[in-house]
Amino acid sequence: MDIKVKGSKELASEVIDAGLCILCGACAGGCPYFTQYKGAMVLMDNCTLSEGQCYQYCPRTCTDMNEISQKIFNMPYSEDEIGTFQEVLIARSADTGIRERAQDGGTVTTILSAALDEKIIDGVVATRIDKDKTPQGFIARNKAELLECSGVSYGPSTVLEIYNHLPPDSIDRLGIVGLPCQVMALAKMKTHPPQNRVNIDNIKLTIGLFCTWNLSPVEFYKFLKANVDLSTVEKFNIPPPPANRFDVYTSSGKLSFPLEQVREFTIPGCAYCLDMTSEFADISVGSAEGIEGWNTVIVRTGTGAELMEATKGKGQIETDTLPPDNLAHLKEAALLKKKRALNNIIAKTDDNDNLLYLGLSKNIIDRLLA
Ligand SMILES: Cc1cc2nc3c(=O)[nH]c(=O)nc-3n(C[C@H](O)[C@H](O)[C@H](O)COP(=O)(O)OP(=O)(O)OC[C@H]3O[C@@H](n4cnc5c(N)ncnc54)[C@H](O)[C@@H]3O)c2cc1C
Repeated sequence: MDIKVKGSKELASEVIDAGLCILCGACAGGCPYFTQYKGAMVLMDNCTLSEGQCYQYCPRTCTDMNEISQKIFNMPYSEDEIGTFQEVLIARSADTGIRERAQDGGTVTTILSAALDEKIIDGVVATRIDKDKTPQGFIARNKAELLECSGVSYGPSTVLEIYNHLPPDSIDRLGIVGLPCQVMALAKMKTHPPQNRVNIDNIKLTIGLFCTWNLSPVEFYKFLKANVDLSTVEKFNIPPPPANRFDVYTSSGKLSFPLEQVREFTIPGCAYCLDMTSEFADISVGSAEGIEGWNTVIVRTGTGAELMEATKGKGQIETDTLPPDNLAHLKEAALLKKKRALNNIIAKTDDNDNLLYLGLSKNIIDRLLA
């Protein structure tokens, strides 16, 4: 794939104005020009650079999946629906305190807490739910701060903006938790390291969440505020199919909305995303379908495998095999997201040979279009 790095104006015209932006935040924080405002990334002023890191690391500008996969896994991009992996299993925290606060089984919080304990990392770029219930990037440096980050808030988190803001001379070894788009931006940074910024090799552990779509920070919160007293909200949850509900747990009980109603607030750019399982993470984590309070975990890299083994060995995490039907469903859902995205891209360009940002081998394209 011919990768041409362009500047902020092209990022604005090719990605933001074209409706591809997913508000991952990769372009923010590294310079003063891009910021999220009223639910959109906006270019605040004219930047004269003809090549910018904002353009380079955006997951919606030319992305050569083979090149990135070679960097992360030392092999070409996998044809498997869930990407390259060593093991898929179910897990939950052995710590009931973590499980009570966590979104599902607390696997993310537990793995990261173990990595802090083992001094593999000094901090975690995570997401904390703000007072207004929106997701905000935050650097957690101990278990108590990680616990503040457990649970999920829907909407784009500023994790990458927080990361881009780090002083270039910082030597903190970091873990980071993000959605597939954010993990993709980080993988692009690992493939072509940023200049005059903090060393990307300081990221020692990437935990990726599963994601089918994310919600618009403006429209979704307008809807929520009209229906719920946000100050009483304790948890959001989308139970696995066939529930078809969006649940809001408040101090006075649970409110449920039809998923179709909430899906209307999906960020439009999510329609062009192929990745459901954060394919370039060390470990990817989602809800375990039909097994409440557990996570599905995909261990992808040697770093991920070592950490899972250490966490298991110390009794901090309980694991079990993923039932074959669940693995089949996971792969089916991941494949559906890929097919949907590819068809949406082709519908946008009206040209099977113009996949906008996406560099995929012909084999994989043919398989997805079949
Ligand atoms: C927008 C979104 C969509 C998702 N879609 C799916 C899906 O389709 N299928 C599925 O199986 N799972 C999905 N998940 C993941 C799932 O909700 C849980 O996050 C996951 O199962 C981990 O559970 P846990 O108990 O281990 O997490 P916890 O131990 O509670 O840790 C949760 C972690 O999530 C991070 N986080 C919270 N909100 C955000 C955010 N907005 N952006 C980035 N990071 C955040 C925090 O930093 C925290 O470390 C989605 C999550 C999000 C945020």
